[in-house]
Amino acid sequence: MKYDLVIVGAGFAGSVAAERLANTIDCKILLIDQRSHIGGNAFDYYDANGILVHKYGPHIFHTNSTEVFQYLSKFTKWRFYEHKVLANVEGKLLPIPINLNTVNSLYGFHLSEEELKEFFVKQKEFIPCIRSAEDVIISQVGRDLYLKFFHHYTIKQWGVPPSELDKSVTARIPVRTNVDDRYFTDKYQFMPVNGYSELFKKMLSHSNIDIRLNTAYKDIEKEITFKHLIYTGPIDEYFDFCYGKLPYRSLQFEHRMLDQACFQQAGVINFPAPNIDFTRITEYKHITGQQHPKTSITYEYPCWGKDPYYPVPSAANALLYSKYCKLAEEIPYVSFTGRLGSYRYYNMDQVVAQSLTVAKKLTAQFLV
Ligand code: FAD
Ligand code: UDP
Repeated sequence: MKYDLVIVGAGFAGSVAAERLANTIDCKILLIDQRSHIGGNAFDYYDANGILVHKYGPHIFHTNSTEVFQYLSKFTKWRFYEHKVLANVEGKLLPIPINLNTVNSLYGFHLSEEELKEFFVKQKEFIPCIRSAEDVIISQVGRDLYLKFFHHYTIKQWGVPPSELDKSVTARIPVRTNVDDRYFTDKYQFMPVNGYSELFKKMLSHSNIDIRLNTAYKDIEKEITFKHLIYTGPIDEYFDFCYGKLPYRSLQFEHRMLDQACFQQAGVINFPAPNIDFTRITEYKHITGQQHPKTSITYEYPCWGKDPYYPVPSAANALLYSKYCKLAEEIPYVSFTGRLGSYRYYNMDQVVAQSLTVAKKLTAQFLV
């Protein structure tokens, strides 16, 4: 099989690159995925009750990038949706990110915004150099709120103490002194009206893109020739783990279909308590806006050793990744990209932006 371009992985990283290159240069592309579907972790489907479910956990689109939003708008119409999350702390459902209502409801206070600022000043600890996921929170709100909302949740989610995780992990979650209870504040916050899988179908419908599913790269490596390879799988796997394995945290999803219209008060409820094994429950109808007499929910149980979902941001892992990057530099006919190829805890929009850049570079290269 002779192709100009082979792309491994049909998630956002691989699919955006395939679409851009198919439409900008006249090249023959093979897009493969070892799974039975396109869309990568953003894949969604209608379950037996007809509810739109995200197979790999809740995917909420948000971005500040007009370029990314306009690009994806070519493949879908959108539904405005601002994500809200509640945390189940000591039996109370409280807004997270922590805000004025969170603190007042948790402690039974009636603080104003100014008083909350003073409260945080008294609670927070001085940490001269903020390095870890623990430091980020304790330096803003102090130890009690950290322990109640972040400590155990992070241990469950990542399988390592927050003190050993990079600060960027919990820095994703802001702390607010007002009553804004939105999870994200990005300029664009929308869900694809007909779901992500429909978006991917549109993106990839091009006569120059051949798609092979249920196909791992190693299975066909010897049968194919190409001018360039875009690899969006785990970078360490490509190099046969020659320097050792990069850790990826995984999840087990328990999907449940319920004979009731509504299960919980928000799209996602987090469970930071250490005695509960799962981290969060998602009820999709809040997120997709679907009207249906039944509902579907998903429990997430973090684990090791299954599908690689989360690169684990830490100094040791960054060092190991940099060794693989050096190997990658020696093979300029392969581009590593996406969440697994770059070993970065990227959101969907960041992966789309990265692939748009990779595609621009390759277009220039192919046209020479
Ligand atoms: P993936 O989607 O992982 O796609 C990679 C594909 O490559 C996979 O389909 C895999 O099967 C395939 N592959 C790997 N190796 C091989 C191989 N050797 N041969 C063949 N195929 C291979 N982002 C947001 O913006 N908002 C959210 O709300 C959000 N929620 C998330 C919730 C969860 C539980 C998870 C895990 C992630 C979430 N993300 C979210 C992040 C989002 O999933 C990623 O940013 C995005 O899907 C990454 O796209 P990708 O193409 O890089 O990787
Ligand atoms: N986090 C937490 N408690 C929460 C929400 C988040 O401890 O209620 C921490 C946890 O370490 C998590 C990180 O903040 O992994 C980032 O949260 P986010 O919701 O962005 O995680 P994702 O949706 O990527 O799983």
